[in-house]
Amino acid sequence: MTLCSFLKLDPAYRDYVWGGEKLRPGFNPTAEAWVVWEEDTIHAGPLAGLTLGEAAARYGGTLLGARPVSRTGTRFPLLIKLLDCAQWLSLQVHPDDKLALELEGPGQFGKTEAWHILEAEPGAKLIAGFQPNTSAETVAEAIRNQTIIEHVRYAAVGQGDTVFMPAGTLHALGPGLLVYEVQQTSDWTYRVYDWGRPQTEKRPLHIEKSIRATRPDFTAPIVPMPAYGDGTSHTLVGCDYFTLDLLSASTQPIDLDTRGESFHAITVIEGKASLMADGERVDLERFQTAVVPASLGAYRFEPQVACRALKSSV
Ligand SMILES: [Zn+2]
Repeated sequence: MTLCSFLKLDPAYRDYVWGGEKLRPGFNPTAEAWVVWEEDTIHAGPLAGLTLGEAAARYGGTLLGARPVSRTGTRFPLLIKLLDCAQWLSLQVHPDDKLALELEGPGQFGKTEAWHILEAEPGAKLIAGFQPNTSAETVAEAIRNQTIIEHVRYAAVGQGDTVFMPAGTLHALGPGLLVYEVQQTSDWTYRVYDWGRPQTEKRPLHIEKSIRATRPDFTAPIVPMPAYGDGTSHTLVGCDYFTLDLLSASTQPIDLDTRGESFHAITVIEGKASLMADGERVDLERFQTAVVPASLGAYRFEPQVACRALKSSV
């Protein structure tokens, strides 16, 4: 069996207090658009009305590809969000697969993630890891007495920068950033510090689990945008859990192929593009996303105007 349609998704939105107005004009604050999520609904075509997770469970490797199925079964393995940050987000850390299993139980996964900066106001910063030579004892004590912020490493970032954060990396996004975030599908986020905001049932701190999960020696480098030409694809991040590629085109199309190995999730971040395969076509505006089923095979990324897109796969 093959699936030969592009699956355009309807994103889910989150209106957390720290959001802005870039992702969904007229709805302020909109903090997050979950552009690839197992509960997003497929917008059109033969699978219209199913959620991505339902389609993955029903079609398995046909949709997901051989590689993700061999690792995580028929659960959709990635979550992709766009985040519009008008304030500091909580300082957080995620367990790795092994620790998630130990702390949260059977069938639970850790979370490795990456950020690609879509827009950055002048002076915008994020936190990724610690200052050099910060010891495990210092980290544990500073998480307990809520002085951790004195030991973190702030990094100035600009449009096009990429940050890869293996599970265990302490991190937070700062105000003035619009970000594409790709991560393992996992429910486990440990909140280390929340800038003195009151702890509530929905926003508790996770002190002891944070200490277990945090790696004092992890400091994520900021990788600048590669030089790119017309009709090119560049790999920004490659890891065990996902590969993130930047597609750039103004007049030249890019030929791509899933080869049955993994689905591709394409999100346009600038301009406008179409995906085309035998008799199939989907048009994507800025911030719109389509999942290309692994069984679809060869297809073409065709720019309508100068455009850039991000492609995530497993
Ligand atoms: Zn995170």
